[in-house]
Amino acid sequence: MPNSNKQPDNIFIEVVEDCAASPRLQPASPWRILVIDDDEDVHEATRFALKNETFFGRPVEFLHAYSASEARARMTEFKDVAVAIVDVVMESQTAGLDLIHDMREAGLEEMRIILRTGQPGMAPELSVVARYEIDDYRTKTEMNRTRLITVITSCIRTYSHYHAINSSRKGLEMIIKSARELFKPTNLEMFAWGILLQVAALVNTSPKGLVCVRQTASCVLESEVVCAAGRFLHYTGRRVSEVPDQEIVNVLSSLRDLEEPLVSGNYLILTISNRSHRKLIAVIEIDGPISETEMSLVKLYCGNIKIAFDNISLVERLDELAFLDTTLQIPNLNAFYRSFETCLRLKETPLSLGLIQIERFDELIADHGLHMALDCLRQMHIALSQLENLEIVARVGDGTLALLGDPGQLSSENLQDYLHQSYMIDGVEIAPRCRMLLRELDKNEDLPLEILREAVAALLHEPAVVAGKVIHYDQKLRTELERRNNLKGALKKAVEQHDGILVYMQPKIDLESKTCIGAEALARWQYGDEMVMPSEFIPISESIGITAALTDIVVQKSAEWLKERAPDKDFTIAVNLSMYDLNLPGFAKRLLRTIEQTGLPAERFELEVTEGIAMKNRHAAISQLQMLREAGCTIALDDFGTGYASLSQLQTLPVDVLKIDRSFIGSLTTDNARHSMAAIILSTTNALDMQCVAEGIETPEQEKALAVLGCSIGQGFLYGKPCPFEAFAF
Ligand code: C2E
Ligand code: MG
Ligand code: MG
Repeated sequence: MPNSNKQPDNIFIEVVEDCAASPRLQPASPWRILVIDDDEDVHEATRFALKNETFFGRPVEFLHAYSASEARARMTEFKDVAVAIVDVVMESQTAGLDLIHDMREAGLEEMRIILRTGQPGMAPELSVVARYEIDDYRTKTEMNRTRLITVITSCIRTYSHYHAINSSRKGLEMIIKSARELFKPTNLEMFAWGILLQVAALVNTSPKGLVCVRQTASCVLESEVVCAAGRFLHYTGRRVSEVPDQEIVNVLSSLRDLEEPLVSGNYLILTISNRSHRKLIAVIEIDGPISETEMSLVKLYCGNIKIAFDNISLVERLDELAFLDTTLQIPNLNAFYRSFETCLRLKETPLSLGLIQIERFDELIADHGLHMALDCLRQMHIALSQLENLEIVARVGDGTLALLGDPGQLSSENLQDYLHQSYMIDGVEIAPRCRMLLRELDKNEDLPLEILREAVAALLHEPAVVAGKVIHYDQKLRTELERRNNLKGALKKAVEQHDGILVYMQPKIDLESKTCIGAEALARWQYGDEMVMPSEFIPISESIGITAALTDIVVQKSAEWLKERAPDKDFTIAVNLSMYDLNLPGFAKRLLRTIEQTGLPAERFELEVTEGIAMKNRHAAISQLQMLREAGCTIALDDFGTGYASLSQLQTLPVDVLKIDRSFIGSLTTDNARHSMAAIILSTTNALDMQCVAEGIETPEQEKALAVLGCSIGQGFLYGKPCPFEAFAF
């Protein structure tokens, strides 16, 4: 919002002096004649001689000084004197000449000078006449009325030429300077101020008036006043139609496509158009008449700053783009940050921050296409924007929107529905899985970037933040987040230095012979006194991109054990891979190199991947898996039944083993539906000639039920919990 009471610091004013008036524009303003003489009669006689005289249509006005020292003291009053009649001998023989010297030195260059003396013998030397540009020299007796009028006419003519030339020169200098200045402002308000001040200076008037900007197609009276000075000051930011000056309103309404400056009544009006179809209209209230020279300068000025106006629109457009998500045409992260910062600074009432995220946005894109996924986000933005008392809803990440508003509105109850909403897009109903985090802000919080970073981190990484639920960012979550942050750095160090990363083994049992045929290697992290579990540190390792290095450690340690404890046996070790591993270009090559370096054949390793691999557009991951399989590794699909893979997709995946998730096994003997599902999975894997491993067998009943269903391999606490190498017996 422009500040109507404050003028910008860089005032561009440079005063341009009045000049000879054009009869067309000019009612008669008087020529100023200065008489400096210590003889009162001379003053009287001069006044009398020129009484009622006009020169080029303008009357005269007198200034009087009675000594050189008085004139010297009043020098600033003589700025626009056209002719000075100066006595040579006053306080001293050369007082007049000395005074003229000082006046010229003080910058009174345009003033014409007639020297007068009572004594014929006191004529100045020719060199003095030339140096101080003295126009005439007369003795007092020589100066009769006719001669005085002739000399003054000639002097005024010369003065007016001088003045016009000087004004043009100064005006041109100023135009060049102004244009340079006007390339600096990056906002319209500053630019408009520049115009108001510069044009006022160019036509030698005080800056009063207004500048408004209109879109070419819109009505001028609807345009906004961008800056205003003088009696219009309070109309900044208002519409032109609200300005209580009928004359201005009339003049502006009658403007057509006029580009030339014009004077209407007491106003000088300029219009400048730019390539963005915007028109800037400046209305400057003028103190007096405007000369033709000034008008020419104003025209030149308008032409000169047109490019600067184009520039402003360009900068404004860039500014707009910086705060707009151009794909969705909604506010972006910058806009959110700006609004957040302002709210924290100025808002007196409580404030809440909300983050809503479409889970696996990339998979939504893979499934439905970019266009539909974005449309889904756009519709979500529209829906959320309907909430009352919101400051902003902006896109702050790929599939993430952020909201800022009243805690009463941003409540779990109000927002719950948005998490379960479906959207019709091109006739297809899409129901994205969404998660949401809410944070009520304390009065003294003032670091928007930090608050946003923490909230996004919680949204992305906190296991508590799950789809379909509104989660509050409270002290508990904050503590977890802090812990996670600390763990990040420590884990990186542990993996880099191979320090504290342990491998636990859990046996895999042939259910028929009850013998141990292999083991699953499960990572553990000894962090100080604490044993951190993979459910906590694997997601952290994924977020900091160190999963491949972690896999290397697990493979190397497992291989050491194999070489020592089961060198010749047909005993395999299963190592878990993360989806992040497989999405990493060159991961398969790296893993095969690590295996090769252990000196063991790839056949001794089974690689467990989760169902995410079955998703579309995972071609690169699948081809890495194929490479590992071709090299001899067995590939197992872990946690089957919890994710996205369907039985029909199994055929298309390079998978040898299927591990039924323990959620099916746990309820095998109690839940009929689960029982049937396990039965279907087992019969399908048999048909596909795949091996099936049941995870999480804890009771003999479960074991029995699985044996009936034809499952041949089992894993679970019934046979052994994961344990360190030393404790592992098989
Ligand atoms: P997973 O691959 O499904 O491993 C089996 C998990 O189930 C292990 O948890 C194991 O302790 C647990 N478990 C086995 N039998 C039973 C049972 O009878 N009852 C119950 N309640 N639980 C049982 P753990 O070791 O905490 O590992 C959790 C997950 O972390 C693993 O699930 C795996 O996905 C991941 N993980 C472990 N180590 C690594 C690793 O080195 N790299 C990667 N990328 N992921 C790993
Ligand atoms: Mg596993
Ligand atoms: Mg599993």
